[in-house]
Amino acid sequence: QKRDHRKLGRELKLFVLSEDLPAGVPMFLPRGETLRYQMESYVRETQERYGYQHVWTAHLGKVRLYKTSKHWFTYRENMFPVMQGEQETSEDDAYVLKPMNCPHHITLYKSQMHSYRELPVRYAEFATLYRYEKAGTLTGLARVRSLTQDDAHVFMRPDQIQEEFDRAFNLTIEVFNTYGLEDYWISLSLRDPQKKEEYVGSDDVWEKAESALRAAVDAKGVEYKAVIGEAAFYGPKVDFMVRDALGREWQCSTIQLDFVQPENFGLEYIAEDGQAHRPIIIHRAVTGSTERFMAMIIEHFAGAFPVWLSPVQAMVIPIADRHIEYANKVMETLKAAGVRVEVDTRSERMNAKVRDAQMQKIPYMLVVGDKEAADNAVAVRLRTNENLGATPLASFIERVTNIIKAKSRDL
Ligand SMILES: [Zn+2]
Repeated sequence: QKRDHRKLGRELKLFVLSEDLPAGVPMFLPRGETLRYQMESYVRETQERYGYQHVWTAHLGKVRLYKTSKHWFTYRENMFPVMQGEQETSEDDAYVLKPMNCPHHITLYKSQMHSYRELPVRYAEFATLYRYEKAGTLTGLARVRSLTQDDAHVFMRPDQIQEEFDRAFNLTIEVFNTYGLEDYWISLSLRDPQKKEEYVGSDDVWEKAESALRAAVDAKGVEYKAVIGEAAFYGPKVDFMVRDALGREWQCSTIQLDFVQPENFGLEYIAEDGQAHRPIIIHRAVTGSTERFMAMIIEHFAGAFPVWLSPVQAMVIPIADRHIEYANKVMETLKAAGVRVEVDTRSERMNAKVRDAQMQKIPYMLVVGDKEAADNAVAVRLRTNENLGATPLASFIERVTNIIKAKSRDL
């Protein structure tokens, strides 16, 4: 109850769900946007380190693109109604709000020539997608109609499946470790052979994809559970089910192996033999969606985020009005060192300001009075209520910048 992300989202001024916007379309206040930005920047940096390249595609596509990908026939109930204006004379040219990135990244891949030497091509994007979820299923940020996926598509040769699976897997584990999410299990999601009509692709292709993915997971030596009927319509996948501090399960990351979409789009690369061959695609998301992952970490940390994620990392609290000038100087010095900091200039009593900052789960409260101003120091209090006492400003900066840099969960 205390950890409910909808309640904390309001109290910590992170996001707003307004009656004047469609249900399931959250808006983010400055502190919530800062949190999103930190989460996404971290994944972006990590992806770059792992060799992914970022691309950008718009929020609109054409019906015909989704017919080619077959989403039009298998996923349509999750798509918003199409938009057809005066200028679009056929249904094929009508607009769709993007529910998936795959067809867009595939179109980017197809726009260029590719030789076997440059594969794998790894396109990543933080893309907001629109899905027409049933109104009754929408809950805060956990299930929304506008979700931002940290999506990537890897276009590769058949001999690169294991290596690219490992890359996606290792990246995911690294991100989980940074967030302190150590309790998760892995689902190998397969096709239900009794309901073949719900999937696209021949038996042959599915057999190939499922055995390749199983071999890739087996080679990691991790435990997994095979779950029949949970595959994507175009291929089998590995899903990471994370348990939060309350033991509740969240489906976050996914790694999917796809032999079908390359076929649908007629994708090619020029192989060593000089002939055109068909690549294979890995679809993968690390945190899944920014919104859902944010819901999870709000509840996991009960709003008390690690310092590197905290929207406001330090609050400077002047004891009296005459200390505001020094408080502003402290703020500017900390800002210059890359710390997110505010000054509480309200005419409340010092204790009330400390309590309010603690309620906002701000990691550090820096109380400044005559003595601190004279010594170029700050009196440091932690949100845990621990009192570190007077600390030279330079020492505090060293402490906080080291903790931010290490993405440590210490204060
Ligand atoms: Zn995809």
